[in-house]
Amino acid sequence: MFGTVEGTGYEVIDPEFAHCIFGHAHIERLWTGARWSEGPVWFAAGRYLLWSDIPNNRILRWDETDGSVSTFRAPCNNTNGHTLDRQGRLISCEHLTRRVTRTEHDGTCTVIADQFEGKRLNSPNDVVVKSDGSIWFTDPSYGIDYDYEGGRAESEIGACHVYRVNPADGAITIVADDYQKPNGLAFSPNESLLYIADTGATHAPDGPRHIRRHSVQADGALSDGAVFASCTQGLFDGFRLDTQGRIWTSAGDGVHCYAPDGRLIGKLLIPETVANVCFGAAKLNRLFICGTTSLYAVYLNVNGVSPL
Ligand code: MG
Repeated sequence: MFGTVEGTGYEVIDPEFAHCIFGHAHIERLWTGARWSEGPVWFAAGRYLLWSDIPNNRILRWDETDGSVSTFRAPCNNTNGHTLDRQGRLISCEHLTRRVTRTEHDGTCTVIADQFEGKRLNSPNDVVVKSDGSIWFTDPSYGIDYDYEGGRAESEIGACHVYRVNPADGAITIVADDYQKPNGLAFSPNESLLYIADTGATHAPDGPRHIRRHSVQADGALSDGAVFASCTQGLFDGFRLDTQGRIWTSAGDGVHCYAPDGRLIGKLLIPETVANVCFGAAKLNRLFICGTTSLYAVYLNVNGVSPL
């Protein structure tokens, strides 16, 4: 579907944002029919995008070559966030099975993480892979809070942490234990910084609705962690960075764009709550947007940071 979709548009807050967009490039709705869209990931070689429809327990696939949408995997254990590892393999957060998995080149699945010190994870939500092969993921409780998104259960760990999987031996360590509901996460272009969203406001009215910024140490430890930005409309869920270090983050009224110094410079307005985004197309200059029931996309005058 092309043309102007009602409720979409741009909001330029800082002149810098005007250089990031093409005002005449419409925000398209590529497909609709999901219940809760999340976890977009771009496969450059295959020219397709995968994303999760969490309540419908399926991974969907949008094909750039003909615009078609098909079911990639169903059931899928209520997957949420996805990314690629350094070999281009799919890494998935699964709510129902409370684990992080890797889909191998032959299609089989390998469990990356499903417990910490003998206790089951809550429900991994979003994941990134660093260039050293380490896998970083958040583990809030949304997949065990409700049957809608997974399976209701008690938390065995009793808290919601951020974890790192060591690429050498698969060992899992906690890298942040002071989050209420850690959610989306992404590295800066040179990986010296790690941004992590906290959506604690879903469970506490005055809870966090912000992104914090950490410094990444050579050994994988995090330091700092001050609040980078607080969401002015809804919540920050998943997000990605462009090559200039800007943060393109989901929010209640669309996608908010922040300069690296924390200034909100503009918005892509979407008529549904946005949960996550990712860059795709051959030049990584197209932003794919998971907006509740629909998949949207827009060409931008920026390029995303390649996950590979
Ligand atoms: Mg999320």
